[in-house]
Amino acid sequence: MQAMVLNAVGHPLVWTELPDRQPGAGEIRVKIGACGVCRTDLHVVDGELPQPQLPIIPGHEIVGRIDAIGPGVSTLVLGQRVGIPWLGHTCGVCPYCRMQRENLCDRPLFTGYTRDGGFASAVVADARFAFPLGEQGSDEALAPLLCAGLIGWRALAIAGDAPRLGLYGFGAAAHILAQVARWQGRSVFAFTRAGDAATQRFARSLGAAWAGAADELPPQPLDAAIIFAPVGELVPLALQAVRKGGRVVCAGIHMSDIPRLPYRLLWEERQLLSVANLTRQDGLDFLSQVPQMGIVTRTTAYPLQQANQALADLRAGRFEGAAVLLP
Ligand SMILES: [Zn+2]
Ligand SMILES: [Zn+2]
Repeated sequence: MQAMVLNAVGHPLVWTELPDRQPGAGEIRVKIGACGVCRTDLHVVDGELPQPQLPIIPGHEIVGRIDAIGPGVSTLVLGQRVGIPWLGHTCGVCPYCRMQRENLCDRPLFTGYTRDGGFASAVVADARFAFPLGEQGSDEALAPLLCAGLIGWRALAIAGDAPRLGLYGFGAAAHILAQVARWQGRSVFAFTRAGDAATQRFARSLGAAWAGAADELPPQPLDAAIIFAPVGELVPLALQAVRKGGRVVCAGIHMSDIPRLPYRLLWEERQLLSVANLTRQDGLDFLSQVPQMGIVTRTTAYPLQQANQALADLRAGRFEGAAVLLP
């Protein structure tokens, strides 16, 4: 197999030939058709997340077909198309696993961070954490749903019953979630970098009722806001934009420091929350409804060997939507 390997944080990924791997008990091997590039991959490469399992193959928005099955796997079949998400394994016995909050597991493994991921031609995964995807849609179009879509879905659930929803940072996750929110009948307010007219146009083209700069106030107070950009300065801005009792949900795994803020921004029962990882139930709930939602993902494809270019373009905001690597 071939892979783009991170040997040391802060260094480019290295194109590497590796021996083919065999799935162990409870595992499957997937021949990868596409793997999305997520901002979390940037955080791993940049060393902003503690203790990656180096060397590591990043990538956790994997779509491919099962080409080998280890002992004890009975629910999946050879040739089946599956998606492999960020949550790669949980312990099943810690207090969080036992209270159906496996996203907070004390001993998890994360795809592309603490177990090898999808910037490769193949991956071995825990079969219990692979989602059957069916045959509708291309691998490239589905890949961004595996994290940008799924984490967005969980963030949307935590945002609660919020008819007027703000999205701060209009990248891969928000461009999917805006469509989901519209499908649910919500109004979407998109916040971008000041002066980013192209992204604001993109947001309006996906049904946003309003699009503007992150430091602007929306025309009406929001019921909830989700922050996707890893920028702590957005927290007080979003708190200012939500109504009394409104929620602000931080959906990223890493964020720059949140500046000091006056208590009056939190006063009147505004809530500030974070979203961590996903549960398998989130994945099943979201992916089962994807065919009805009519989500159109905007993707920019790169050959696997150009993973470093894709990461650089993501960092610089050089494309709308999501980058996807094709092996
Ligand atoms: Zn656990
Ligand atoms: Zn991700």
